[in-house]
Amino acid sequence: MSGHYLKKHPDKNGWYGEYGGAFLPPQLEQPFAEISEAYDRISLSADFQNELKYIRKHFQGRPTPIHYARNLSDSLAGARIYLKREDLNHTGAHKLNHCMAEALLARHMGKQRLIAETGAGQHGVALATAAAYFGLECEIHMGEVDIEKEHPNVVRMKLLGAKVVPVSFGGRTLKEAVDSAFQSYLKDPVTSIYAIGSVVGPHPFPKMVRDFQRIVGEEARAQFAEMTASDLPDHVAACVGGGSNAMGIFQGFIDEEEVTLHGVEPLGRGTKLGEHSATITYGSDGEIHGFRSLVLTNEDGQPAPVHSIASGLDYPGVGPEHAYLHKIGRVLYSAVSDQQTLDAFYKLSRLEGIIPALESAHAVAHAIRMAPEHPGESILINLSGRGDKDIDYVADNYGYNV
Ligand SMILES: *Cc1c(COP(=O)(O)O)cnc(C)c1O
Repeated sequence: MSGHYLKKHPDKNGWYGEYGGAFLPPQLEQPFAEISEAYDRISLSADFQNELKYIRKHFQGRPTPIHYARNLSDSLAGARIYLKREDLNHTGAHKLNHCMAEALLARHMGKQRLIAETGAGQHGVALATAAAYFGLECEIHMGEVDIEKEHPNVVRMKLLGAKVVPVSFGGRTLKEAVDSAFQSYLKDPVTSIYAIGSVVGPHPFPKMVRDFQRIVGEEARAQFAEMTASDLPDHVAACVGGGSNAMGIFQGFIDEEEVTLHGVEPLGRGTKLGEHSATITYGSDGEIHGFRSLVLTNEDGQPAPVHSIASGLDYPGVGPEHAYLHKIGRVLYSAVSDQQTLDAFYKLSRLEGIIPALESAHAVAHAIRMAPEHPGESILINLSGRGDKDIDYVADNYGYNV
C-alpha cells in the first residue's frame, strides 16, 4: 500500500471498499447530510481546532503518557510491551476524545441535546461529561443487563445530569440500546444530535469518530520515538468492539508497512454463535444500524446475540473500516477468550500497578500471548481504559486470583 491511506479512505460517500455507506430512513437523510456538511466545514476551521486543542490539554489532561511495562515484559522473556495510557484520560477511557469533539460540533451546529447508546457505560459517562461541559442536554440509552453490571457508571451519568433510559427488549444489551437511541433520535433530529460511540453507524460517523481519535496515534508515535531508540514499534495492538480505540492508535502507524497492526476481538466463552462477539473472525458481510460491514447473524439474518466479559465489546457488528482493513490484510485480527482476558487483568494489576478495563485487557492478553514468540521486538498496546468500573464484578465472580 502506498502512503496517505487516511486521505484516500473513505471515499466521499463514506465507503471503505465495499464496506460503510449510509442506509438511512428518509426522515434522517436531511439531518445526516447536515451533519456531514457541518463536519467538513466546521471541524477544519481554526476556531474548532483551537478549542479542541485547549479542551484536550486543560480539561482532558492530554497528552496521556506511554508506560514501558518492564515487569510484565521481563516475566514473559520476549518482546518489550508498552502501554498507551488512555486510562488516564479524564473519565478513564479513550471515549472522551470523540465525545468532546462531537459535543463541540453539536454546539457549533446549534444543537441542544445529545442522544446516545452505551454498553459498559463508558460512552454514556463520556458523553454526559461533554454535555455538562458545554451545557447541553443528554439522553443515554442503556440495556438493563448492562445497567445492573455497570452500576457505578449509571450513577456517574445521573450525577452528571444525563437522563438514563433503560432498554428492556431483546438481549437488553448494546445492540438494543442502539436501536432504542435511534428511535428517540428519529423523533427529534432537528434539535438533537446522535453522538455515536464508536467508528460505527452511517457515514459520516465512522470517519468523524476516527478523525477525533487520531490524537491517540499521533501522540503515541512521537512518545514511542522519544522513549526508545527506535522510531517505530514492531507491533501495535488494540481491542476491537466497534473499533474506535483501535482506529485511534492505528492511525499513527497505518502508512508504515513495517509496523504490524493487531485488532483483538472478544472470543468470550467459545466459538459457538452467541458465546462470543468476534465479528471479524466469525462474521459475514451484512448490514447493521445503517452501514455495511461484517456482522454476526442468526439463521434468519438478524443480528445474533453476543457475549463478552467486557460489556463495551459485545456488539454483533464492527466498524466498516475494520472490515476493510481485514479484507486488504493491513490489520491482523485475532480473538482472546474471557479467561485469557481475566488472566491479563490480574497480571497487569499485580505486575504493573495498573488495573485495566476488561475491554483493554483483551489487547494485553494478546500481547502476553505473542510476546514470547517475538524476542527483541516491541509491542505497543492501546490501554483504552481503566478497570475501576469492573473491579466489583471481577472480585465478586472470580475473586482475587491469590
Ligand atoms: C467502549 C470501550 C471499548 C470498545 O470500544 P471501541 O470503539 O472498540 O474502542 C474499549 N475499551 C474501553 C475502555 C471502552 O470503554
